[in-house]
Formats: sequence, C-alpha cells, structure tokens
Amino acid sequence: MQTQQSQLASFTNFIAGQQIPSQSGRTFTSINPANGQEWGTFAESGSEDVNAAVQAAREALEGPWGKLSATRRGRLLMAWGDKIAGQADAIARMESAQNGKLLAEMKAQATVVKEWLYYFGGLADKIEGRVIPLERASVLNYTLREPLGVVGVIVPWNSPTFLTIMSCAPALAAGNTIVLKPSEVTSASAFELARLAGEAGIPPGVINVVTGAREAGAALVDHEDVAKICFTGSDAAGRHIASRAGARLASCTLELGGKSPNIVFGDALIDNAVVGLLAGIFAAAGQTCIAGSRAYVHDSIYEQVLDRLVQRVKQIRLGDPLAADTQMGPAATAAQLQKNETMVASALQAGAEALHGGRRTSVAGLEGGYFFEPTILHRLSANNPIMQEEVFGPVLAVTPFHDDDEVVALANSTKFGLAAGVWTQNLSRAHSMAKRLQAGTVWVNTYRALAFNSPFGGYKDSGIGRVNGMESVDQFLQTKSVWCETSDEIQDPFVMKV
Ligand code: NAD
Repeated sequence: MQTQQSQLASFTNFIAGQQIPSQSGRTFTSINPANGQEWGTFAESGSEDVNAAVQAAREALEGPWGKLSATRRGRLLMAWGDKIAGQADAIARMESAQNGKLLAEMKAQATVVKEWLYYFGGLADKIEGRVIPLERASVLNYTLREPLGVVGVIVPWNSPTFLTIMSCAPALAAGNTIVLKPSEVTSASAFELARLAGEAGIPPGVINVVTGAREAGAALVDHEDVAKICFTGSDAAGRHIASRAGARLASCTLELGGKSPNIVFGDALIDNAVVGLLAGIFAAAGQTCIAGSRAYVHDSIYEQVLDRLVQRVKQIRLGDPLAADTQMGPAATAAQLQKNETMVASALQAGAEALHGGRRTSVAGLEGGYFFEPTILHRLSANNPIMQEEVFGPVLAVTPFHDDDEVVALANSTKFGLAAGVWTQNLSRAHSMAKRLQAGTVWVNTYRALAFNSPFGGYKDSGIGRVNGMESVDQFLQTKSVWCETSDEIQDPFVMKV
C-alpha cells in the first residue's frame, strides 16, 4: 500500500486488508531501469511477516471465503477483473517504471487479465465431484473436490500482473486463499491488485501481499501451513523451491525459463517468418520466458533471412518505455544488463560472430538507463554456452539447418522445453513438427500467443504443471472419496469389503 514520503513512493505489506510495515522495520528500494533512479521503498519481509500473512489467509479460508458459494466466489473474481481493467493505465505505469517494459505492453496485460478472471470465475461453480458406480451396489460413493488451503504465489518481474493473475485465478476459483510474494524488482502493482480485490468485494485475508527478496520467498516456501507453492521464475530458483517444498511434502506448480527454438523452413512465407523471429526475441527486450532465442533457418533461405533480420533490427527504436513510439526499452535491472553483456562476451569467445549489437548503449535523456543493443549472433557451434542457457535479454542466436530430422535434434537439444515456433506452408510438416518438438507450446506460423483457456507450461526443465485452461484448476484441488453404506447388513470385521 502506498504512502507518499519525500519523492519516493513507499509501500507496506498488505495483510488481512491492512497496510502493515515489516515487523523488523526493514525496507528496500526499487530502481527505475529507464533512468537508474530510485523509484520506491518496500517492506523487507521475514518469516514473522509471512507468518502473519499465512495466518490471515488461513482465517479467510475457514471464514468468509470458505463459506461463500462457488457461484458467488466466481462472481467476485469477475468483478475483480473489471476493477483491474478500470485501473489498467495506473497499474501499467507502475510496472513500466519498475521493469522498463513498454507501457503499451504492460497496459495490454493489465487490461486482458479480466478475461482470465471471467473465465476462471465462470469455472468456479463448474468444479464438480462424481458419483462412482462401485461394484458394491449398497454403497453410495461420491467425490468432493476441495481446495488445498493456503497457496503461496511467487512471481518474477517481467509481467507482474499477468503472471500473478495466471496463478491466482485458478487457485481462487478452486476456493483457496493466497499469500503473494511479488518480485523485489516489481512489487508495486501487487498492492494495487490486492486493493482492487477488496473493492470488488473479495474478503480481507483472501489475497495477502508480502514483499522482499529470497528470504521472504523462502519463508513462504517453508511455511507448514502453505499447502502449495505456485512459482514462476528461473529454473535455478524453481529447482531450489521444489526441493524445499518437497522436503515437507507440499506440492508445486513451476513455470520456469526457456531457450525456445523458432524454426523457419524453406517453404515458409518469409515476410511473416521474419516478423515472427523479431517478435519472438526483441519484443519486451527478450525478457519473456517464451523468447524465441534460437532461430533455425533452412540453408536454402539462410542468407536472405539473415539480411532481412539485420536490416530490420537496425531500425528498432530504443527509448523511454512510456513513449508511444518506443519499440524496445531497457533491461529491467543492472544485474540483467550485466548478464546480457557477460553471456554475449562468452558466446563471442566461444567462436560466435555478432552480426548486430552485443553491447550496452545509451539513449539521449536517459543516460542512467540499462539499455542493451538488440543483438544477432551467428556461426554458433552446438556447444556454445549461449545455445544452452537462457539470457533473458534481446539476444538472438541464428543457425542454419538442412533437413527436418536435423532441426528436430537441434531444437530438442537443450534442457528446456517451454515453447517452439515453426514457420512452414506444408501442413504435414507442421503437424509432424508439433508432435516431435519437446515443448509445452508449439506455434505454427505465429509466435508469442497465449489465451486464458489454452494450457501453458513447460516440458523438461521448463516446469511442472500448467497454468491457463481447465486443467489448471485441478492443480489447486484435492479429491475426497466419500463412502456411504446404505444396507444394514452386518459385515465380517476381519475381511476387507471391496
Ligand atoms: P527468479 O527466479 O530470480 O525470481 C522469481 C521470484 O522468485 C522472485 O519473486 C524472487 O524473489 C523469488 N525467489 C528467487 N529465489 C528464491 C528462493 N530461493 N526461494 C523463494 N523465492 C525465491 O526469476 P526472475 O529473474 O525474477 O525472472 C526471470 C525468470 O522467470 C526467467 O527465467 C523466466 O524465463 C522466468 N519466467 C517464466 C515464466 C513461465 O511462465 N514459464 C514466465 C515469466 C518468467
């Protein structure tokens, strides 16, 4: 929750509908990456703050939220969607000022999340048990689908509202309550979401927000009253979180990173494919989990596609993320800028060539900003580190291929499996690729498309479980089997009845 203190916005935690400072009194400061200046201060939370938030979530679960009908719960989610969309501009401005992504993109995300809340709000009263036709006809056996309890939601900085709603909407539709730990880079919009939930009529304690870095996240993961962790972030943190949650037998949904291949066949519509390659990596300055960071281009059109890519990339307008004509903003943090630089340097050292970019750059009037040139690398050996590790920046690695088997092997040769793009006019090739590529999403003749009703998640090290679509609700439910004996027959106590 925000108060104005000198020039900086200042936020406390949000627990049971109240603004509450961290119990230690510690705070941290966030930076605007477009100019390098301090933007706001936030509560640096520890386990005592997480305890208070989990307790509030427990009380809401056992109290007002747990007592609501599923239909009413769903209606409140829909009303929340309308409230968020009504404040999309304000939310987007907060996010842009914290992660440097284009205002237009942040606003589109804050507007479209209402569709997620309509969809999952609508699903709330379609969660049904079943009557099981047992062999033992005297028993009425049915299932109840019940919420897990308190869900810990941990999100990254690249699409704060979008990813928060993707996790929270199915969890809330299933009747759970939430403790949200936003990224320390982009914490502000989480408070606006929580405040708007209250305005929409969602009871206090259903959505609680605690801010901080790893310590706060770890306290949530380790809390014995948190039934499930829904984590979106890097594979390294996901691995750590899953092992901690596993140690106390709490389940996890993990939405992790990627190194997604974007494949252009010789029969593709080249204009569309070039735009698809660009959108896959340079939109959002490469700071999306689904970034198409490896382009594989058929050798018959390789030079032509490379030329066109380089021509187009030269025209990308870097600048202020708030300006309507900016096409690429800065890296979100100084650490991400450093990572872009270091990973490109080691790729070059391992034999790659930069066809464009590869360095930090500056933008007039925003000299303190964390800007990095859109970068195209080629002549990459398969064991070049940049072919395996996620950069999370505007760096495209382009490689030629000759036949379908070869490109499938190359595309599947990383530990990741989040997404893949295929550009071809050949229908049987398109469907064959869709089957053979190890990825949770395969786009054919399009890229970077998502929908509330289409499952999204990773194969291999890109994650466990799915967000979006009906199956995501199942991941926040547990099934109870109820047995009612309807006959008065006295049973043999020493023989199990089947
Ligand atoms: P990150 O893993 O560093 O941090 C993500 C969140 O986890 C933050 O809130 C952070 O404070 C918290 N965290 C980090 N370590 C933790 C720990 N040990 N215990 C508990 N909490 C911890 O990721 P990031 O740099 O914020 O985001 C970028 C990453 O997110 C990229 O790898 C990207 O691919 C991934 N991502 C995945 C998806 C998806 O849907 N698959 C979407 C967006 C981003």
